[in-house]
Amino acid sequence: MSNKIWTNVNLISMQKNETPYGLIENTAMVIENDYIAWIGPEEELPNHYDYEMEDAEGDYMSPGLIDCHTHLIYGGNRIDEFEKRLNGVSYEEIAKSGGGILSTVQATRDATEAELIESANKRLSHLKAEGVTTIEVKSGYGLNTETELKMLSVSRTMNVNNDIDVIATFLGAHAIPDEYKNNRDDYIDLIINEMLPKIAEQKMATAVDGFCETIGFQYQEMEKIFIKAKELGLNVKLHAEQLSNQNGAKLAAKYDALSADHLEHLTEDAILNMKEAGTIAVLLPGAYYTLRDSKCPPIDLLRKHKVPMAVATDCNPGSSPVLSLKLMINMASTIFQLTPEEAIAGVTRNAAKALGLRDRGIIKEGMLADLVRWDIEHPAELAYYVGGNQVKSVIKNGKIIL
Ligand SMILES: [Zn+2]
Repeated sequence: MSNKIWTNVNLISMQKNETPYGLIENTAMVIENDYIAWIGPEEELPNHYDYEMEDAEGDYMSPGLIDCHTHLIYGGNRIDEFEKRLNGVSYEEIAKSGGGILSTVQATRDATEAELIESANKRLSHLKAEGVTTIEVKSGYGLNTETELKMLSVSRTMNVNNDIDVIATFLGAHAIPDEYKNNRDDYIDLIINEMLPKIAEQKMATAVDGFCETIGFQYQEMEKIFIKAKELGLNVKLHAEQLSNQNGAKLAAKYDALSADHLEHLTEDAILNMKEAGTIAVLLPGAYYTLRDSKCPPIDLLRKHKVPMAVATDCNPGSSPVLSLKLMINMASTIFQLTPEEAIAGVTRNAAKALGLRDRGIIKEGMLADLVRWDIEHPAELAYYVGGNQVKSVIKNGKIIL
């Protein structure tokens, strides 16, 4: 239990109101039992809050950052592949010599839980240092029941042993494993009849994700998986329209997905479906950058139709080796042309929605006291710098963890 009164603080509350960034200036804030209990001028502070006071010295505080799309847990690494490619070795040759996603699958199958935890925690430490207090982590490098469950178990252990929240998503439909390449229907049956029921029964994940793409899973295949997921009471989300338009966002909206992610090839039609279903658009500028993509997601249309936009690292060993959510705020602004306020909403308010979490993402009475105290002069500074870390301290459930 953490009880405390902060005084003289400027809150980048990210509440949706007329004030840019939902700014609440020069205020006091009471934290009681891990939650924000009261916000208002210090002179109006109710007497019954008899807690320790700390002067924030006019610093800005934002909600704790939320990285709502990562593949943080994996075995091995692909650094040699990165180097080979830059030395002129082609993708085909790399794939032939056992590189690419299937090399990560092999390394993840071979790794122990302890090894996976150690390497994922190393990556997590960079994100935590920048104020991430909630992170989503997907499975999807196991592609068999045993290793998918191992990855989700690692995620659960990380959630228990870290002072931040780790939220697990099941991504069995990430790629077709080598052993099923000639009978892909059997792999989809394995997901539906074995993996999903076990995951639902053991409560190993709250959502089910997939990679809907010509080189991934087709619309009809994903739909079968979504139908089973919904039957089992699991939320769904989808990697959609990254490399081509497969109507993945429409499929996501049809099953009331929490989010559709990537979206470079999204159409206006699908945006209207997402709007109707309340599906969040998750933008991943790190993958766009790493793949040197040239087609940006249709930000103007998402804005026009008021589909909330989230922003995440997509941290993964192949297409987005990104260890900085702060940098993603910058890239969302400079490359995708989000306003700084939209980009910050993308890693707070809308990122919470993309994970179906209603108790965080904004600073408001009744919300979890997940906060970051910054050494900045203006909220837009969080989007302005390329690199650097302006964190002064990180607060999770009211406790200073950094
Ligand atoms: Zn991803």
